[in-house]
This record gives sequence, structure tokens and C-alpha cells, in this order.
Amino acid sequence: MGLIEGTGLDKVYSTATGPLVALTNVSFTINEGEFISLVGPSGCGKSTLLSILGGLEQKTDGDLVLAGQHHDAPRRDIGMMFQTSVLFPWRTIRQNVRLPGEILGLDRKQQAERTDELLDLVGLNGFGDRYPSELSGGMRQRVALARLLAHDPRVLLMDEPFGALDEFTRETMNVELLRIWEKTGKTVVFVTHNIGEAVFLSDRIFVMTPRPGRLEGIVEVDLPRP
Ligand code: ADP
Ligand code: ADP
Repeated sequence: MGLIEGTGLDKVYSTATGPLVALTNVSFTINEGEFISLVGPSGCGKSTLLSILGGLEQKTDGDLVLAGQHHDAPRRDIGMMFQTSVLFPWRTIRQNVRLPGEILGLDRKQQAERTDELLDLVGLNGFGDRYPSELSGGMRQRVALARLLAHDPRVLLMDEPFGALDEFTRETMNVELLRIWEKTGKTVVFVTHNIGEAVFLSDRIFVMTPRPGRLEGIVEVDLPRP
């Protein structure tokens, strides 16, 4: 039994021009601690699948089980990160990272300690009292990464998190992400349309097929780590 199991997932959006099929009969298993990339051409349903896993969208049909429970509502053991991260400009970096803990009402003292550990982990030691406007794009995504980890989710869902960064910064962030993944043992589902990035990062790649109805679901590629 994997940590996340999808069976025959379908997603149909209702749009002004009628129903739009985004996912047809998608099945997969993701094991605890795995790093999975979702790749495929634009429009093949990567973001849709990630949004369903994160509880931002409802599946139309099929079954999704997360940690043994049928998954129909958003869950606290999931964290999501996107290409552009909204940081609150009037809050310091430390206050931004603390936000999820505040919202969830976690212990303030523990959260304060955890925030400093997380800033260390993402390489932002010494930046806690700065404001987002003082940081580069790459550093802001480091803040977002620390914030993503603040409530200690088991599963990290990342939708092209470094896609807006320049090539050099993206490579640096990929190396950082791998290091953090190895250290924390998180399960990661990472959306990208960059196959080089997927190969560099993943244990397995799920290649999503371009057109629902012709080829169904996903093709898996295994990448054993040395
Ligand atoms: P990808 O992430 O692979 O580019 P998406 O999941 O964003 O693919 O989109 C899959 C299909 O669903 C596309 O045809 C897209 O236009 C459509 N789609 C995505 N989100 C919505 C939405 N909220 N409403 C209607 N159609 C959507
Ligand atoms: P392609 O030629 O297919 O574009 P690249 O080798 O340029 O593939 O890699 C594409 C992406 O994969 C890079 O932008 C980076 O995000 C990631 N990547 C590949 N190799 C590394 C590496 N050694 N370190 C960090 N990131 C890497």
C-alpha cells in the first residue's frame, strides 16, 4: 500500500463552452519518501492532478486514498508550493515562515524555534528580520520552501516551483531541494515540463499523456538512484 493511491481518476471541468475532460482514468501509487515528477506537454493535466491531490479541486470520478484514508477534503499533512509565491510584504521573512503555524494555532515557542531551524535549512540564516522586497526571486522561493515545511506536512506538492527563476538559480534550488528532501524524508510530487529537471530530481517520473481519450493515464519511468 502506497502513501498515495489514485485509481481511475477522472476530472471534467464545466466551462462556458461545455464539459472539458482534463484527466481520464489516471491510476498510480506513490510510496512514502519518494520523489515523483509529473511531466508532459502543456495542458495534459499536471496541475489538475496536483490540485486534486492538494484538495484544491475535486475529482469527478475514481478513488484517491492518502495514508489509508479516502481523500475528499484538504488535509493538513499536505503542503503546496507554486511558481510564484505570495509573501506578505509587511511581514518579515521570519513572520512569513511562521504564518502557517499561526493559522493552525501551533505552539508559539516551538514554532519560533522551528522557524529558525527552517531558515537555516533553506540557507537563509541571518535573513529572518529582512522583508521580502529586500530579497531576490531565488531567495523568496527559499522563504516559500521554509514556509511550506513550517507545519511539517508529509507530502510536498510543488507546481513548477522554480520555473520563473533563471537557469543558474533554478539549478541551485534543485540541488537545495534534493538535499532537503534527503534530510527530511518528505514525499514530493513535483510538476515540471522540463525533462532534464525531472531526471535530475526524481525516483520516478510519471509521463502524462497529451490527449485524454486516446492514450489513457500515465506512463512511469523508473530512475534508480546510485
Ligand atoms: P498542465 O498543468 O499539464 O498544463 P492543466 O491541468 O493546467 O494542464 O490543464 C488540463 C486541461 O484542463 C487543459 O485543457 C486546461 O485548459 C483545462 N483546465 C485547467 N484548469 C481548468 C479550470 N479551472 N477550468 C476549466 N478548465 C481547466
Ligand atoms: P535540457 O538540455 O533537456 O534542457 P538540462 O541538462 O539543461 O536539460 O537540464 C534542464 C534542467 O534540469 C535544469 O534547468 C535544471 O533545473 C535541472 N538540472 C539538470 N542537471 C542538473 C544539475 N546537475 N544540477 C541541478 N539541476 C540540474
